[in-house]
Amino acid sequence: MDQSKARSLYIHVPFCQHICEYCDFVRVGYHNGLAERFIERCKQDLSLRQGETFETIYIGGGTPSALSIDQLKTLLSMVRPFCALGCEFTMEANPENFTEDKIQCCVEYGVNRISLGVQSVQAKLLQLIGRKHSLEDAENVIAMLRKYGINNISADGMYGLPTQTIADFEHTLLWMIAQQLPHVSLYALTIEPNSAFGRKHIKSIDNTLEGDFYQLAEDLLIKAGYQHYEISNFCLPDKESRHNLTYWHYEDFVAIGPGAAGKENHRRYTITKNIHRYLTEGIIFDEDIALSMEDEMFEFLMMGLRLKEGISKKIFIDRFRVSLEDAFNHAIEKNKEKGWLKFSDTHMYPSDEGRLFLHDLLIDFLEIEPENR
Ligand code: SF4
Repeated sequence: MDQSKARSLYIHVPFCQHICEYCDFVRVGYHNGLAERFIERCKQDLSLRQGETFETIYIGGGTPSALSIDQLKTLLSMVRPFCALGCEFTMEANPENFTEDKIQCCVEYGVNRISLGVQSVQAKLLQLIGRKHSLEDAENVIAMLRKYGINNISADGMYGLPTQTIADFEHTLLWMIAQQLPHVSLYALTIEPNSAFGRKHIKSIDNTLEGDFYQLAEDLLIKAGYQHYEISNFCLPDKESRHNLTYWHYEDFVAIGPGAAGKENHRRYTITKNIHRYLTEGIIFDEDIALSMEDEMFEFLMMGLRLKEGISKKIFIDRFRVSLEDAFNHAIEKNKEKGWLKFSDTHMYPSDEGRLFLHDLLIDFLEIEPENR
């Protein structure tokens, strides 16, 4: 397997103005002093990458737009030199604090894609999950982004929220369609034990209802011209998230910031989630794993089968010097028989049912054919 430079960079900004009820990400309430130290620490981490450029850069969180305008300016000016020509440069933003001056700052430093945390159009649901923005805030931000020339906009939506009805979710989807957003990411609420919802013992909705929400999204968005290109993601033609495709194509990516996960040179790592340690100590990992060929073959499948197009047979051979059929003959035959896996001349891809049961399908792939170990 060849070693190559990562083409993508992820930076995790761990600050939020308010903490959402369902959130279990690595984040902390915004604090000016901590944010200053975080920027300083990012500067050190980036200096280790001097001379590298990336085809995609993603600043996520947390909420990068929670930084002050000066902090945002400093961060973006530090990151800008790492953009390769034609770089997809995405930043996550919250409509609650993405002000016009911050949007202008993004434009100035080359951010060309925004992922906006909309979640729902119902004020009652936004309030229930602890979001502080209104639908009007989201619409204003989208209009301002377009005014300043950022048209590549993605919105996050959630389903399975407490008290949320199918009609509520339908309104959110129809709003996204009406806004002509090029990209939509939809997530089912999961109740994490460490979130406020978890501590309040809120229950997840049952699988049948969750399936109904998912089906509704697929029906409405496909009818409106979107492609369901990944399990949780829809886009208008050619508007896939190039950054996230790096993950699903199982390519290398660099990670910076607390809790950020990266993969480089057959090594997968997660930087410490402890924000204090991240700010005060050297680079510390919560996880740092040398990946065997078997690990990489499995993870390549696990990520690639999330995509509608599935896995390129040629890329698999180029990477692992063995064909998919030789590496996983037994698992492939079994899942073909079930109707969960399909083949074209160039790709192996999951059927719609196979994608729904991806977890079960993958269990069969944990065993590599003995002669290929
Ligand atoms: S869900 Fe996002 S915006 Fe809300 S607290 Fe978590 S990281 Fe912050």
